[in-house]
Amino acid sequence: MFLEGSFLGILPQMPVPTYTVTCTKNVLIVRDVYEFALSKPPGFIFEPGQYVLFDVPLVGDPADIQPRAFSLAALPEEPDLLFIAKLVPGGRMSRFVAESLSAGTTILMKGPMGRFVLDRTTDNRLLFVATGTGIAPFRPQILALLAADPLRRIDLIFGVRTEQDLFWMDMFRDLERKHPNVHFHPTLSAGSSSWGGHRGRVQAVIPQIVTDFSRLSLYACGNPEMTKGVKHLALTQWGMGKEDVHVEGYI
Ligand SMILES: Cc1cc2nc3c(=O)[nH]c(=O)nc-3n(C[C@H](O)[C@H](O)[C@H](O)COP(=O)(O)OP(=O)(O)OC[C@H]3O[C@@H](n4cnc5c(N)ncnc54)[C@H](O)[C@@H]3O)c2cc1C
Repeated sequence: MFLEGSFLGILPQMPVPTYTVTCTKNVLIVRDVYEFALSKPPGFIFEPGQYVLFDVPLVGDPADIQPRAFSLAALPEEPDLLFIAKLVPGGRMSRFVAESLSAGTTILMKGPMGRFVLDRTTDNRLLFVATGTGIAPFRPQILALLAADPLRRIDLIFGVRTEQDLFWMDMFRDLERKHPNVHFHPTLSAGSSSWGGHRGRVQAVIPQIVTDFSRLSLYACGNPEMTKGVKHLALTQWGMGKEDVHVEGYI
């Protein structure tokens, strides 16, 4: 009889497939974030939280290609693949998204990849912590959780700099209205004087929202300094076990 582990151990690594995908929309949703959708190739199966690698051509020199990673922001059952991309000055993908990507553009995509997926073995309370476009994987993760387990307590902290950097607010406010167990905490590090919500770094906001860190699963995504900091605090100050702390740094 084969033992599953040893059987898998001798199998050659399965190559990750590459697909040609076509853009179906690309819109600027705040001053430096684009939301774009791509056609889903037949047979493309993924889990909420995973990412893909795009072969990104240099604008002006399409033969010069480099990979860039992007989290899948759609549910597996949604018809198109959804992504959000933050523009960084002089960035390769940033230029491609802002200048070349529109309905009908094709790009090579490899995936799915990554292990930043929901731990289905616990029924812990959930805390999602995002900065900027790090909120991308949490859209499908939260929607999938609510479909499977509609009463689970879910908190989502979404940190950006100012009011002008907030996006997807209606979507998460709407989820909060429909599900009393969902709590959305937009947080501004440099908000205006009229901002009435949380302020400061998301690391500092967490203990204002969670006082009991037992039976909690924490997922943090976005700025790698933030994800490192949150993980460190969770393990050294909040007494969490590493099996309950999941991070994805957008390096
Ligand atoms: C697993 C994974 C998933 C990711 N998912 C997403 C996602 O869903 N959405 C998303 O927007 N990004 C995501 N990223 C980050 C993304 O892959 C790129 O690194 C980022 O978009 C910058 O790419 P670029 O080609 O525009 O810039 P690059 O050409 O890589 O960089 C150009 C210049 O900008 C600097 N730079 C790079 N990033 C930043 C930054 N954030 N702030 C300031 N300066 C910067 C670089 O140091 C460089 O000098 C993810 C990263 C990982 C590892």
